[in-house]
Amino acid sequence: MINIPEKTQVLVIGGGPGGATAATLLAREGFEVTLLEADRFPRYHIGESLLPSILQIVDLLGAREKLETHGFQRKNGAYLMWGRETWPLNFGELAGDHTYSFQVVRADFDQFLLEHARSQGVKVFDGVEVRSIEFDGERPVRAGWFVKPGNNGATGQQGSTGFEYLIDASGRNGVMANHYLRNRRYHKIFQNIAVWGYYTNTNRLPGSQQGDIAVGSIPSGWLWGIPLHDGTMSVGAVLHRDYIKSRRNVSLKNILLEAIDQSPLIKDLVAPGELISEVVSETDYSYASEKFCGPGFFLVGDAAAFLDPLLSSGVHLATFSAMLAAAGLNSFYQGEISETEMLNFYEESYRQAYLRFLVFLSAFYDVGRGRDSYFWEAQRLTQEDVNEHDLKLAFLKLVTGLKDLSDAQSDAHHFLFSEMSRRIDQNLNFRKDKEALASLDDDGRQEAEENARFFSSVEGLFALNEEDAVHGLYIATSPRLHLARASKAV
Ligand SMILES: Cc1cc2nc3c(=O)[nH]c(=O)nc-3n(C[C@H](O)[C@H](O)[C@H](O)COP(=O)(O)OP(=O)(O)OC[C@H]3O[C@@H](n4cnc5c(N)ncnc54)[C@H](O)[C@@H]3O)c2cc1C
Repeated sequence: MINIPEKTQVLVIGGGPGGATAATLLAREGFEVTLLEADRFPRYHIGESLLPSILQIVDLLGAREKLETHGFQRKNGAYLMWGRETWPLNFGELAGDHTYSFQVVRADFDQFLLEHARSQGVKVFDGVEVRSIEFDGERPVRAGWFVKPGNNGATGQQGSTGFEYLIDASGRNGVMANHYLRNRRYHKIFQNIAVWGYYTNTNRLPGSQQGDIAVGSIPSGWLWGIPLHDGTMSVGAVLHRDYIKSRRNVSLKNILLEAIDQSPLIKDLVAPGELISEVVSETDYSYASEKFCGPGFFLVGDAAAFLDPLLSSGVHLATFSAMLAAAGLNSFYQGEISETEMLNFYEESYRQAYLRFLVFLSAFYDVGRGRDSYFWEAQRLTQEDVNEHDLKLAFLKLVTGLKDLSDAQSDAHHFLFSEMSRRIDQNLNFRKDKEALASLDDDGRQEAEENARFFSSVEGLFALNEEDAVHGLYIATSPRLHLARASKAV
């Protein structure tokens, strides 16, 4: 028998980075938290390259030292061979002290976060699947669970747990969004399929870049090479659905090998190596739920939304949304804000963060690399796909000082992307060429600095300050994690 509580203050479904982060942050604030995870941990997961924001998160979790000493591969940046361009991106150029990140074997990393959650007082049960949710009106109030095979003689045990608040961090399975709300919408763009495997004895990027992610574009998509601390390299290709269809009779292994062959960067890395795993695939179509929260519940991480992995944004968005939910609940239970304020703040903050990556991603795909191929053509954002108003709002809110969007109303969508493309190019050029930056006049330098701030945030750091207030609220971490009121409406 497993003693899963019949009642808990907060129930978390899923023990990935999103669920473990939300649970830990809440337990550290004194909440009674129960977390149910369907798989037995450690379990395999794709998604190994982390953004520097993970340092801010583990600081909040009280796990920075544990992470630093765990032995994961340190990552100083990214190296992209994108069409004809080569871009070394160095997190060391960011301001502050979150200037690096890690490449992680996800089985180890997710286990590390879940064990930490346990150590902070979360009641963690793995091998326990949530199979049903009961509602009181719109409000989820109870979850039915089932103990999966292999669990200390408790296999088949069933029961249910009542809760005051639900955090659904069940990843792509999306217990709430897929089975109850039925509000997950797939973007027409980014209909890609990822194919990957693990190599040993590969080359590494040179010098201080040896821990960086390598990204190489090819006519049918792009590839990643992620060096891991166990001596292997995760090597994968993201290819458009139509391309995969056209290779119907080719094995996944050969599809991956053909893709590697077309990227000089990845081909060189794996040249001396040996493929030591099966080659597997997963559709990584991008999607978002119409609502990210409601009375009594939050959707966190992939349970709410997923984005093409080009920017390695998945774990960032999962842990960031977990932090937003935990801060909101903390202030709500302290009586500092109403439930409506908490939910509005979550909905808008998380959607902005998601849209920011979506806009950046779209522009990245649109920068004009290899447009002759239908892969790139297919990735271009169509106006019907994402609400133009949302995109414009995201862009306007995030790139300050953009004065002339109103002059381009007739074709705002195309203006948005050409403007983003221009700014990406400018930012990357100035990173490479500091002298050019120094020779700008005041206005030019101001724009370049605004751009640099924007791109820093896109690379994964998030600002926790009053200037970024949403509906007059912003995240404050001291003396405890909560939502603070901005002194004047921002
Ligand atoms: C090809 C590919 C490459 C990627 N590369 C990167 C990358 O380099 N960097 C990056 O940051 N992200 C990457 N991602 C995305 C990243 O993997 C996810 O965004 C991230 O894992 C989301 O974390 P999460 O906690 O929301 O969900 P998950 O990590 O998926 O965790 C969800 C958990 O919920 C559990 N669960 C599901 N249903 C139930 C249920 N009914 N009851 C109980 N438990 C349940 C699951 O077993 C799972 O453990 C990639 C994704 C793909 C597809």
